[in-house]
Amino acid sequence: MLARIVNSLPFGLSQQITKLYFQALIRNQRGAHSSQEHFIYKNMDVKILPALQDNYMYLIVDKATNEAAIVDPVEPKTVLEAVQKQGVKLTTVLTTHHHWDHAGGNEDLVKQHPGLQVYGGDDRIGALTQKVQHNYKFNVGNLNIQCLFTPCHTSGHICYFVTAPEEGSEPAVFTGDTLFLGGCGRFFEGTADQMYKALITILSKLPDHTNVFCGHEYSLQNLKFASHVEPHNEEVHKKIAWSKQQREDGKPTVPSTIAEEKLYNPFMRVTEPSVQKHAGKQDPIEAMKAIRLEKDHFKG
Ligand SMILES: [Zn+2]
Repeated sequence: MLARIVNSLPFGLSQQITKLYFQALIRNQRGAHSSQEHFIYKNMDVKILPALQDNYMYLIVDKATNEAAIVDPVEPKTVLEAVQKQGVKLTTVLTTHHHWDHAGGNEDLVKQHPGLQVYGGDDRIGALTQKVQHNYKFNVGNLNIQCLFTPCHTSGHICYFVTAPEEGSEPAVFTGDTLFLGGCGRFFEGTADQMYKALITILSKLPDHTNVFCGHEYSLQNLKFASHVEPHNEEVHKKIAWSKQQREDGKPTVPSTIAEEKLYNPFMRVTEPSVQKHAGKQDPIEAMKAIRLEKDHFKG
């Protein structure tokens, strides 16, 4: 509800209100919503840094050069503590989109850690040094970063696909509020057609073993809706049981993989007859539109 009202306000005012809203939420919170977890891959490390009420920031480290990038650093203090603790050289900020709970820490972080390159696909992003487009490529250390333009949640949303130069290492994609574990972001500034392109044409085509790191811990809410869309999908029930256990242990449910998302995420499955039947639409884009609308009002 708040999101809907805030989105209809002028940009400066909406950023101010969202900031106050999140600050009020944090004051009522007893600590981080999840534990900080560290995923070690062949050529890169990804440190999950929980922030605010249910956001995730990610510290990506190139193991060969110790150079690091941070995704959506809304809490600069937490980021700088992790950078110092791990002794890495932070050079880069990857911003998925302009919403305050993702981009709201950029300016403060740059002030405390001057010289950072700040990437993003939207002029509304604070401290932006490089505006990127679809397939724009650059490096963090030896890691290759490919920008995937995925507008819909916001009109300038970017997902970042990260690969190592060596074969046999696991790729990762940082999906912000476009693709969530078991769900997708609201269509604030876009259409079902755009989300179809983002999820089916772009993200589904990434290698199946790509690790998916999304912007929020929404997995259980999303999977509850997934089981409503596909009550007979065993993969949904398995992932619910696993996610419940993770959350009881205070652990994040990220990352998942592209292969997994194709098995249980209804928004990645709009070409499946079972999802189309639930939506009452045979066209996958119409099905996308219908289930997103249903999810917007879903209480579970
Ligand atoms: Zn957002």
